[in-house]
Amino acid sequence: MKTIIEPFKIKSVEPIKFTTRDEREKILENAGYNPFLIHAEDVIIDLLTDSGTSAMSAKQWSAIMEGDESYAGSKSFYRFESVVKKITGHKIVIPTHQGRAAEKILFSIVGGKGKFIPNNTHFDTTRANVEFTGAEAVDLLNETGKHPEIKADFKGNMDVEALENFIRKAGKENVPLVMITVTNNSGGGQPVSMQNIRDVKSVCEKYGIPLFLDACRFAENAYFIKKREKGYKNKSILEIAQEMFSYADGATMSAKKDALVNIGGFLSMNDENLATQCRNLLIVTEGFPTYGGLAGRDLEAVAQGLEEVLDENYLQYRIRSTEYLGEKLTSAGIPIIEPPGGHAIYIDAKRFLPHVPPHQYPGQSIVCEIYINGGVRAVEIGSVMFGKYHPDTGELISPPMELVRLAIPRRVYTQSHIDYVAEVLIETFEKRNKLKGYEIVYEAPVLRHFTARFKPLK
Ligand SMILES: *Cc1c(COP(=O)(O)O)cnc(C)c1O
Repeated sequence: MKTIIEPFKIKSVEPIKFTTRDEREKILENAGYNPFLIHAEDVIIDLLTDSGTSAMSAKQWSAIMEGDESYAGSKSFYRFESVVKKITGHKIVIPTHQGRAAEKILFSIVGGKGKFIPNNTHFDTTRANVEFTGAEAVDLLNETGKHPEIKADFKGNMDVEALENFIRKAGKENVPLVMITVTNNSGGGQPVSMQNIRDVKSVCEKYGIPLFLDACRFAENAYFIKKREKGYKNKSILEIAQEMFSYADGATMSAKKDALVNIGGFLSMNDENLATQCRNLLIVTEGFPTYGGLAGRDLEAVAQGLEEVLDENYLQYRIRSTEYLGEKLTSAGIPIIEPPGGHAIYIDAKRFLPHVPPHQYPGQSIVCEIYINGGVRAVEIGSVMFGKYHPDTGELISPPMELVRLAIPRRVYTQSHIDYVAEVLIETFEKRNKLKGYEIVYEAPVLRHFTARFKPLK
């Protein structure tokens, strides 16, 4: 087979500023050894997130010029609405400025004290929006999804038996909806099978509970179904996506992921009654129901992006470029979550740096070293992000895994950029014995990873 090439030519470029190792050492020191505090301009390859970092196409930029900025009933809204309806089949489409705004509206209505929201794994903003209402966010991931070293096709699947047991225990009247996140972002971008969506739907139907999709990466999930699940080989991505959404009564979406734009989102559903309540809240926080916190031009870009993301050549390149990086790292012996997910590679920092214990932040040590070594920016997902202090002893309580995430922006980097990233990581891995731990010298009371400052240990 020939090399899978980028299915686009480059028409407009953004120069990368190169820095020297000495310069990067100073930049990182000034940033308190926290890559979140580095100016983006000082980063060579930025793998901090795949959210809102996509490159738009010429057609999206020209759609932006077509944006109708009428306050109410804008032409751009109707284009946006018709594309979302085509893909989801849902009757009602409500634009929002990003994914969490859709979550905030939905859970303000269905959440509240005494309620439970089951999900395969809640993404952090979803969990925060559920919990903010007083409801409880419950993760019911299948067992294989919890083991980074197991290679399986659909590690994002929900544990259907656990779901049914949970509904029985909690009482169906206390479960306003069930959610499935496709792909499972927090679990490494692992896909969910059609069979699993179907099985979850039949449990929901049995108890009269609506099913919602957290659909941020629906197209990447549809591509995995096409490649891995029996019976989907000859179906188009659109057909697979339509089937996925057909089992759902509604969806929340961050267009910053699979709509290939820099801002936007939506909430879709079939229930008119719920939609009326959502629109009323939308007007308070986001804007009129035909723009929902977005400009007409943003709606045009989302509509065009949703068409482009269904292109199989695009998805082949997308999923392959993530897998390609994963293969390069594993063949050099670097431990990662297997198999590679859709949008990111997760390095297992515990196995990468066995000599650095969790309370010395092994993930942070890797993140700092790859910045110094090659100007690559990644994010720690471990004791820095999720660590808590014991209320009595003050001891650090670490999460089960210490990870470093390399998230791949869509259509931004070429194969040689990815080769460079692999080289930086492999070089770092080869001198891993020299890497030291870190201590925190400043931290905020909540979400400390964004602003914490560190000091390397001697
Ligand atoms: C990004 C994301 C969200 C939140 O969307 P924002 O646009 O960042 O507000 C929700 N769920 C998942 C799975 C996501 O990846």
